[in-house]
Amino acid sequence: MMLHDDVTTAVLDFDAPDFRERFDCDLPLGSFCGREGTIFRLWAPTAQAVWLNLYRDGAAGEAAFRQEMTPGERGLWTWETAENLDGVYYDYHVTVDDTERATADPYARASGLNGARSMVIDLRRTDPEGWQEDGPPPCPPETVIYEIHVKDFSWDSHSGVSPAYRGKYKALCQDNTTLDGAGERPTGLAYLRGLGVTHVQLMPVFDYGSVDEGGDPDAFNWGYDPVNYNVPEGSYSTDPAHGEVRIRELKEAVQSLHRNGFRVIMDVVYNHTYRLDSWLFRTVPWYYYRRKEDGTPSDGSRCGNDLASERSMCARYILDSVLYWAEEYHIDGFRFDLMGLLDARLMNRIQSELDRRWGVGEKLVFGEPWGATETAAAPGTVLADKSNLHRLNGRIGAFCDATRDAVKGSALQADVLGFVNGGHMEPEHLACCLKGWAGPYAAFSAQTPAQTITYLSSHDDWTLWDKLVLTMDPERRYDEPLKSALRANRLAATINFCCQGHLFLLSGEEFARTKAGIRDSFSSPVAVNRLDWRRAWNWRELVEYYRGLIALRKRLPGLCDKSAAAPDRIGAVSAPAEDCVTARVDNRGGDGRWPELFLIFNAGEREVLAPLPPGDWQALVDGESSTLWQDDETQLRRNTAAVSAMTALLLGRV
Ligand code: CA
Repeated sequence: MMLHDDVTTAVLDFDAPDFRERFDCDLPLGSFCGREGTIFRLWAPTAQAVWLNLYRDGAAGEAAFRQEMTPGERGLWTWETAENLDGVYYDYHVTVDDTERATADPYARASGLNGARSMVIDLRRTDPEGWQEDGPPPCPPETVIYEIHVKDFSWDSHSGVSPAYRGKYKALCQDNTTLDGAGERPTGLAYLRGLGVTHVQLMPVFDYGSVDEGGDPDAFNWGYDPVNYNVPEGSYSTDPAHGEVRIRELKEAVQSLHRNGFRVIMDVVYNHTYRLDSWLFRTVPWYYYRRKEDGTPSDGSRCGNDLASERSMCARYILDSVLYWAEEYHIDGFRFDLMGLLDARLMNRIQSELDRRWGVGEKLVFGEPWGATETAAAPGTVLADKSNLHRLNGRIGAFCDATRDAVKGSALQADVLGFVNGGHMEPEHLACCLKGWAGPYAAFSAQTPAQTITYLSSHDDWTLWDKLVLTMDPERRYDEPLKSALRANRLAATINFCCQGHLFLLSGEEFARTKAGIRDSFSSPVAVNRLDWRRAWNWRELVEYYRGLIALRKRLPGLCDKSAAAPDRIGAVSAPAEDCVTARVDNRGGDGRWPELFLIFNAGEREVLAPLPPGDWQALVDGESSTLWQDDETQLRRNTAAVSAMTALLLGRV
C-alpha cells in the first residue's frame, strides 16, 4: 500500500480526527535487535519513500548497505533482518513532497559522534556491573535539590578528580576526591555527601548540538539544544565515537549518585529542538512543531521552534522519552525546561504514568511554569504555566519566581532590589512566601506547597552572590568576602529555608558562587561556569551555614509539610520595626521538640528588640550560626529578643 497518493503535507491537517484515527500508532518505534534478528520501525505517514542506510562507522564513510523500507499500516515503515545488527550505525533518507532528506532516527537510543547517525544497540551490554540491583536511596522526608552541570562540576583543575575524568560522567563515579588531591578537603561527591542535599539535578545530559563532541575539550554549553532526545550527550563521555560508551558511563554516574545517597533528577527540554531542521522535522515535516497562522514556526521558546506537545504522536514521543529515561537510566525525577510551553494534559499524563509504574511520590516532576514568550498552541490547549497550576496534578511542581524575586530582587533587572538588599517587604508578602504561595494569589498560586519549588538561584540569571554584589557593592568585588553581602546572603538563605515547598539551589550558592556578574552564561567559557573548589574551601563558613540550615529544615514539620493544611501552619505575621518582619509557625508533629517556631527577619540597618509570643524560646539560628539548635544548653529567651541588623533569628518554643 502506498500512502503518498492522497497524503501530502500541503493539504494535511495534522490535528484533524481522521489523521489521528488513520495514523496514530502505539507500536514500539526505533530499532531493536537480538538473537532473533533486527527490526527498524519508523513512523513517517507523509513519506513517499524511505531508504535505510547502514554504516560501519558512527560518522565517517559511505553506507555499507542500502535498503528501501516497506510502508505499512499507520504510517509505519519497517525493515527486518534475521541478522543481529547490534553496534551497526544507520540513518534514513525520507522523501516527502518529492524532497529527500537524510535523517537520524528520532527514536534512536544510541548514536555515533555528534549524533548524526543512529546506532542499533543491545542495551543490556551497556549495563554496568550491579545495574540490576541499582536503585535510589529511600524517598527522603524532605527534598533538597542541588543543580549541577556535568562539565562544570569537575572541570576545575583543583577538583582532585583524575585529569582524564574532569568534566565527564566518570567524575561522578569518584567517591572520595579532595582539593588538589591532598587528602583533606572534600570536593565533588564527597563534599556533597556532607552538605545534606537529597537530590542531584543534572543539567541536560541528553545529546545536544552546541558542543562538537570531537572538538575542543574545553568547549562549553549548558546544553539546552536537543539533538537526540533518547541518547546521552557524547562530550561528557570518554569516547563519544563509540555509541555504547556514553550510555554505560551515564548509567555508572547514576549508579554512583544512588550509592552515595542521592536521587537523580534529569533536566529535560521537550519544548524546542536545537534547530527546526531536526530529525523529527526531517522525518515528518512540520508534524512535531507549532506554526503561527502565517505558516512560520511558533517561537515561544525564543529558539526558533516550539514542539507541538498537544499533538497526539508528539505527546506520545515526549511521554515515551520520559518513561525511557526513568526505566533504562533509573532517573528519579524530571525538571521540564519551559514547562509553560507544554500542555497540562501531557504533563498530567506523564505524572500519572510515572506514578502508576513506580508508585506515587517516587518520581518527581516539576518545571519552569512559563515560556519565553507566547506560543502558537492548537486552540483549546491548556498550557502548563503559572496561570494553570490548579489544572495540573497537585504534585507537579513549578519554580516559584515570586519568592525568589521578593527575597533578592529581580532576576532580570540588576537594580531592582529584594528584601535582603535594600528593598521592602510587607508582612503579608512574607506570609505568602512562607506558605509557598499555596493559595489564590496573583503572583503565584499553588494548590499546596507540594507544587512549589522554592529557590533563590538556578543556572539561569545572576548567581545569588552576584546579584547581591551588583546591588550592594559599587566596586563589584565578586571575589571579596564582603561582610554586608555575606550577611545578606545568610539572611536570604534563612528566609528561603523557612519557606514551605521543595527546596532547590544552584550548586555553589552555598559558597557564594560567582560568574563575575555574567547573567546568562549558557555559552560562556567553562572557566566562568566551573565550580571553583578552592572557593568551596575558602568560603567554608558560608557552606557551614547552609549545611546547618539544611539539617535543621529536615527537623521542622511546620516547614516541610506539603499537605493542603500546610499554609494554615503559618500564623500571625507582623512588623515590629521598619524592614523587620516576624512570623509564628505551628510546628507540631515530628519529634515534638519545638511545637512552635517564631521567625524574625531583620533586613534593616539597626538592631531590633522584637516582642516574643508567650513561652520560653530557644534560639535555633541567628545571623552567625545555623547550628544553635544543636546546643541544648543555650539560654532561653522570654518576652523579647534582640536581633542584629541584617540578620535572621529563628526561635523554637521549648
Ligand atoms: Ca552532542
